Amino acid sequence: MDTLSHTLWGAGLFGKRGTFLLAMFFGAMPDLFSFGLWLPGHIATTGFGRPDLAAIPDWVVTNYTIFHSWVIAFIAIGAVFLWRKDLAFVMLAWPFHILLDVPFHTAEFFPTQVFWPISDIFFDGIAWSSPWIWFPNIGALVLLYLWRWQRGDFRSSIHIKADSV
Ligand SMILES: [Zn+2]
Repeated sequence: MDTLSHTLWGAGLFGKRGTFLLAMFFGAMPDLFSFGLWLPGHIATTGFGRPDLAAIPDWVVTNYTIFHSWVIAFIAIGAVFLWRKDLAFVMLAWPFHILLDVPFHTAEFFPTQVFWPISDIFFDGIAWSSPWIWFPNIGALVLLYLWRWQRGDFRSSIHIKADSV
């Protein structure tokens, strides 16, 4: 999935008042710590456009693999859970990011090795940019945010803001 959708899924599912930004961060983190460290410099030197696979350095692929592993994610979350259960819940945006990347990446473009380093197995999925995935993704995000809005999850933070003015 694209990084913006990941960010919105993370906040929509695991964020609440006070933790929305953190949930956004963990939703985007696997991509931020791989492509995100390389792409800005690449765009600055070569311009926009889908990067040639051969141009992507090995360390980006390595970082992608490390941060797109449930094994790594759940070890990290498990460690945090012992210390801060509320923070561990927000961090679940990270494995959810991975869950969305497993079926929606093809074998050619960064297949997600979800059980790395135990296994290199991956699923040859449908690209998230396909209209069959892209539009239902947007639709599901709209439904998620409408549901949260209807529950009052956003209203309360606006209320707090109004009080403090
Ligand atoms: Zn990803």
